[in-house]
Amino acid sequence: MCGIVGYTGPKEAYPIVITGLKRLEYRGYDSTGVALLNGGLKVYKKKGRVAELEDAIVGKNLHSHTGIGHTRWATHGEPSDVNAHPHTSASGKLAMIHNGIIENYAQLKKELTNKGYTFSSETDTEVLLNFIEDIKENNKCDLEEAVRVALKRVTGAYVILLLDEENPDTIIAARKGSPLVIGVGKGEHFLGSDASPMLEYTKEVVYVNDYELAIVKPNELILKNLGNEKITPFVTKLDMELAAIEKGGYDHFMLKEIVEQPSTIHDCLRGRLDANAGTITMSGIQDNIEHFKKANRIIMVACGTSWHAALLAEYIIEELCRIPVEVEYASEFRYRNPIINKGDIIVAISQSGETADTLVAIERAKENGAIIFGVVNVVGSSIARISDGGAYTHAGPEIGVASTKAFTGQLAVLTMMALKIAKEKGTISNDRYKNLLLELEAVPEKVSAILKNAEDLKKIALKYKGASDALFLGRGYNFPIALEGALKLKEISYIHAEGYPAAEMKHGPIALVDENLPVVFIATKDSYHEKIVSNIQEIKARKGKVIAIITEGDDVIPGMADDVFYVPAADEIIAPILSTIPMQLLSYYVGIAKGVDVDKPRNLAKSVTVE
Ligand code: GLU
Repeated sequence: MCGIVGYTGPKEAYPIVITGLKRLEYRGYDSTGVALLNGGLKVYKKKGRVAELEDAIVGKNLHSHTGIGHTRWATHGEPSDVNAHPHTSASGKLAMIHNGIIENYAQLKKELTNKGYTFSSETDTEVLLNFIEDIKENNKCDLEEAVRVALKRVTGAYVILLLDEENPDTIIAARKGSPLVIGVGKGEHFLGSDASPMLEYTKEVVYVNDYELAIVKPNELILKNLGNEKITPFVTKLDMELAAIEKGGYDHFMLKEIVEQPSTIHDCLRGRLDANAGTITMSGIQDNIEHFKKANRIIMVACGTSWHAALLAEYIIEELCRIPVEVEYASEFRYRNPIINKGDIIVAISQSGETADTLVAIERAKENGAIIFGVVNVVGSSIARISDGGAYTHAGPEIGVASTKAFTGQLAVLTMMALKIAKEKGTISNDRYKNLLLELEAVPEKVSAILKNAEDLKKIALKYKGASDALFLGRGYNFPIALEGALKLKEISYIHAEGYPAAEMKHGPIALVDENLPVVFIATKDSYHEKIVSNIQEIKARKGKVIAIITEGDDVIPGMADDVFYVPAADEIIAPILSTIPMQLLSYYVGIAKGVDVDKPRNLAKSVTVE
């Protein structure tokens, strides 16, 4: 959440910063701002999107070789011009941008107010900035030292970037809990919440760690810990191209990312799954295989869409590996003093690999002796780095705020993981194992076939776009997909939607059913098919409108549903990956029909680095 960019070097800073902000806008879009050093400090900021700021400052003197920029996801204070970052200090000499939350800001604010400070914004950021300046002035030290002293008093999460009029080519940066990447160029440096702002300039990057401070000049990058000891920057090579973060001719990133799924799932399976040879190669599992075989329990920790992937993984792992699995919301897990035994395996699932709640949850679990296995999409992210082992989803950058291809990547990884452990443990028969490998291998092709019928979902979407509520129902392996379908619809169409196990209806939610309520059934052929057919009848008997996702060849449900969409036949363990695609497309088309900015739905942002 919140995108930050910085540049210092011989090039013009503003175009680099503004282009970088556009790429990071998925992280927050409440306001935009830049601070540029050129003789003095110039700050331009505004409520709204990056393009709005760009238009508003046409013709201003934007010349500068050192600059920072911010796109905000508001936590403290409404989205407004004055709460927009960068903030300037009381003296006007310092400017700062911030991603995260300063949890003890109220205390710091009280101390500063008692000293006579006043604040123009409601943000925690302005408090921290003035706290830093106050230390700088009282201790008669340089900015770097003041930041160090200040951060020792701060609780919460942050990446901060600071400019100081007195050091016109220097950016001071520090991080704890929010991501920061520094790109190393020739006589120049780039800073970003992720590597996208620097992709066309350099492939050499340094991932800054928690409690590290960076002093960034055109020709020099100094990393230090908060104890003022130097740390050698570890330079890694980026494996990402610019095309991966562009729309590539699609109207929306979300549609591009939905359509990409045959290739992203293929990339996820490639080099790992070999159905002919009957092998799954996953070094992260192999290296920890004895732990997995002996595990008394696997705890899956995740948030949002990733939590739904975890729930499906619970069903699959328990079925195939006979290991008890618990699925936890990271935000609850971390605060509720959970019982973690040595040897428990924690599987942390996160697209960004930066999800604050998940990150802290696994840090705690690690302290208690648990083994951490990360399933993340962003290479080099915090969760990937602190995990004992892991598997990347290899879905490529996901820019649309509503997760699509990262989710199917997670399902593919978690299914492979379950199959590999089951095979090693001997809890799966050879025939079933081989068959599931073949089934998994066929997924990209089946997803392509589903995408060819996207227009059918568009028609269904147009029919129901006026609904105020919707229900999504599934049983067994399809239940987590019902939850995901409901979440997707909420996120990008603002229709209130709930997901339920189909059989739970009669315990309450069926009271909602009337002739205006669309009820989406994920009713592919599986062991519970007859049961879900009865559940459909129960809805029809109460005049609900039934939209059913069914298996090709099903000749029972079309006779009772109002609308059907077919997916290719697949084993019940694999079918949920296929059923996910119509859920995504349905929401996408409803969102578009309602005029929602589906890539940037209201109040949301991606990469949730606040708790
Ligand atoms: N807490 C800060 C604010 O509300 C920063 C939020 C962010 O990460 O965008 O302005």
